[in-house]
Amino acid sequence: MRAVKWGVALSKATGKIRIFDTTLRDGEQTPGVSLTPEEKLKIARQLDVLGVDAIEAGFAAASEGEMKAIKMIAKERFNAEIFSMARGVKRDIDAVIESGADGIFLVVPTSDIHLKYKLRKTREEVLKLAEECVQYAKDHGLIVEFGAEDATRSDMSFLKEMISTTVSAGADIITPCDTVGTLTPERAYSLFSELTKEYPNVKFSTHCHDDFGMAVANSIASLRAGVCEVHVTVNGLGERAGNAALEELVVALKLLYNVETSIKLNLLYDTSMLVSRLTGIPVQPNKAVVGENAFVHESGIHTHAIINKPITYEPIPPEIVGRKRRLVAGKHAGSRGLKAALNEMGLHPNDEQLKEIFHRVKAIGDRGKRVTDADLQAIAESVMGLPSVRSIRLEELTVVTGDKVTPTASIKLSLNGKLLTEAATGIGPVDAAMNAIRKAVSAVEPIRLEEYHVDAITGGTDAVVEVSVRLRKGDRVATARGAHGDIVMASVEAMLNGMNVLIGRPRNNNVGRASQG
Ligand code: MN
Repeated sequence: MRAVKWGVALSKATGKIRIFDTTLRDGEQTPGVSLTPEEKLKIARQLDVLGVDAIEAGFAAASEGEMKAIKMIAKERFNAEIFSMARGVKRDIDAVIESGADGIFLVVPTSDIHLKYKLRKTREEVLKLAEECVQYAKDHGLIVEFGAEDATRSDMSFLKEMISTTVSAGADIITPCDTVGTLTPERAYSLFSELTKEYPNVKFSTHCHDDFGMAVANSIASLRAGVCEVHVTVNGLGERAGNAALEELVVALKLLYNVETSIKLNLLYDTSMLVSRLTGIPVQPNKAVVGENAFVHESGIHTHAIINKPITYEPIPPEIVGRKRRLVAGKHAGSRGLKAALNEMGLHPNDEQLKEIFHRVKAIGDRGKRVTDADLQAIAESVMGLPSVRSIRLEELTVVTGDKVTPTASIKLSLNGKLLTEAATGIGPVDAAMNAIRKAVSAVEPIRLEEYHVDAITGGTDAVVEVSVRLRKGDRVATARGAHGDIVMASVEAMLNGMNVLIGRPRNNNVGRASQG
């Protein structure tokens, strides 16, 4: 590995940093996210395999579903310790005890803002409450992680009083939370340096939010100041702008600071996709490590250099985080990148043909259009004078939809001349049609739909609809488009176009290699 010691090595951290994942608690508090107990269990299993040290599985007192989820997860006997959140309320702590969790993340505010406007309690009352709660949880055999809520906007002397009190009461680890994300790396470092110096025998954890986009930087600054645990979420999910992103933090620690964690980096991308799929929150394309574009190169200058030597424009080798580099066609593309993309499709144009393909791709890009893989394939075939044979073709499609009818689609496809017939139901007509195609094809080709996007090109109810899809087969990805007045047909067209790129041309038409030389 080419770990670069650009930063300062973590100085006081003892051994490995403990990764406390709160995707299923703070992450689930993302607006619009709500997971069923079964979905939570699926994510928890993945987190355990990924290698996190602790999983905050939810808030046991919040609902029956939460209780059920935590019970299911606690029963699995993972390597990771299972935690539940609780407020400083006896009922909440009882719920954690009942859930079978190993530990409690006990959250009590310490800032005057929260004391005055949320709890309506005095500092003395809150100190006493926290002390009683910690003792009660310890008496019932729980590992106690005490979270001082809004600690970073709290009066330092009161925060210290709270730390002394809860540590004496038996708290195992203290988390002064940056609840509203107002830390800076400098303040995180000075705050935690002061605390770790004053309490050399206390374990501290850090919980940073991303309101100013500094959650990961603040977490790293806290770690450098001697904190031994960090709270993270997959894809940086969480309240408002989210929490520190697990994938960004562990990759930065490994490659920029040469610090190991227990995380299996090569599972980060799969974990990210699973969480995105189950929460319904897409990952922004330009997100570090797990975003779609994080390892995609279009510009000619970059692709040329990358093909020679990846380190030129790839600070993170894609393989180590379970990903693959992708060179795409477009306005900024260079001929070498195009050639590599075409070769992947089984097309081998000669130099003159490549030049012409290159011009056409640029012309489309200049008109403001994105060039999909299917577009590139079609352009190349036309330039190379190849008949536009498709491995997979639509023969028949019937869709039934309406009120008090389950949307159903039946489809007949020909795949390299062989007829495939299948029927499926769905949430709506498009879903039913896509399900039918997937069912028909999946027996032969394991292709997955990763992204689906609709645009109306013109206004009005007679608008032409454009559907873009991204499909995956193993580690290959293909983008494609379909345009039609009927949304079902546009979707089917996009899906089949993409499948055709991934399946490749029928074997005897896979020509052009001879002219390659
Ligand atoms: Mn939080």
